Amino acid sequence: MMIPTPIIVGKTAQIGRDSFARVDLLRRTVHYGPDRNTTCAWCGQPGKVNVNGFNRLFQYGAHSDGLLTQPHFDEHVFCSVQCRRVYYCP
Ligand SMILES: [Zn+2]
Repeated sequence: MMIPTPIIVGKTAQIGRDSFARVDLLRRTVHYGPDRNTTCAWCGQPGKVNVNGFNRLFQYGAHSDGLLTQPHFDEHVFCSVQCRRVYYCP
């Protein structure tokens, strides 16, 4: 399945930390166009639509401790962290 390119990538926020793995858990907001064709990879919901008609979903990622590493984001987008968790750890 093709993952469409987000039209707007919003802010990245730290939403948690796995201190055992020394990894920060990240979430960034991605906005897709008003066609609502992009849906949560797990539950299929199209995500919340903002005032401009953009479809808002989340992309989750991780950033290991260490100055040289870049955050790594999931290939898929989800409507919530719960959907992401079930998708990767069924
Ligand atoms: Zn979902």
